[in-house]
Amino acid sequence: MRLGLTATVPVEIILAAGLIPVDLNNIFITSESPSRLVSSAEAQGFSHGVCSWIKGIYSAVFEQEINKIIAVTGGDCSNTIALGEVLDSRGIDVIHFSYPLSRRRADLEKEMENLRLILSASWNEIYRIRSRLESIREKLSLIDYLTYRDNIVTGGENHFFLVRSSDFGGDPDGFEKELDEFLELARKRIPMTEEIRLGYLGVPPIFSGLYEKVESMGARVVFNEVQRQFSMPCSRGDMVDQYLAYTYPYSVEGRIKDITHAIEERSLDGLIHYTQTFCYRQLYDILIRERLPIPVLTLEGDKPGPLDSRISLRLETFIEMLRTRKEE
Ligand code: SF4
Repeated sequence: MRLGLTATVPVEIILAAGLIPVDLNNIFITSESPSRLVSSAEAQGFSHGVCSWIKGIYSAVFEQEINKIIAVTGGDCSNTIALGEVLDSRGIDVIHFSYPLSRRRADLEKEMENLRLILSASWNEIYRIRSRLESIREKLSLIDYLTYRDNIVTGGENHFFLVRSSDFGGDPDGFEKELDEFLELARKRIPMTEEIRLGYLGVPPIFSGLYEKVESMGARVVFNEVQRQFSMPCSRGDMVDQYLAYTYPYSVEGRIKDITHAIEERSLDGLIHYTQTFCYRQLYDILIRERLPIPVLTLEGDKPGPLDSRISLRLETFIEMLRTRKEE
């Protein structure tokens, strides 16, 4: 049975329960027509002033005929609380999961135990699944390494694989096979030599073509902050440690530390901070701009679709500024 997810949750528990995890964000954005899913939610009463991801997730549940979901109501999106209630009223079975703002081990442990009991998974099986996923998480880290160190993976490819680690496409074995095939191909490539190295911060972009556009301008994204977090690159310790090290659901401090490390490690020249229209996370832009030591370009996206000319122009100007700065 498939279980829809509104955000990254301890996927080991779902797999240990014999369920198929389906990240609703990925289903929405890779659907044949994401715009149609947004419009369909609007036709059913969702206001224009609600984030498009929420509307896309809502429609994806019905389009994919999913009847049970996990709504992440703490540490991800405050809109999900109401979304869960609307889905519940439409007959969808909604399980709640919340990352504690306190980031306290005991609080997270309680949430995970609660989810485990609801899904009837045993800790033995959860840890067996965790070991099974280890090789996949290592390969994702390798793809990341080949992006910023060996320069043979594009920013778009990095995004494509890392963003899918929230549910492993519902099929860890198939996903690992895909990773192996990609790695074999990538290893035969000649390293890329772009002049400008960028980091991408924030939730994945709702528009398409960003990475390609950046690369057409002699730059490359070599750090995808949140997508990398989805892949759980710091999975030392036990399961609770793993999900405490995941920076995205907690305060921005952990994210800033992670980004600061990446700036140094990956020799980044600039950062693109993506913000979503009508998302409360836009406020973090203030702290990101204040606290990070390199230039930040803030891009806002609203609806799905190709990059528009205004955003392309802003990217061009930003990359040009970084190039001039580097040459000085
Ligand atoms: S982009 Fe922001 S408002 Fe939209 S679903 Fe994500 S966290 Fe919620």
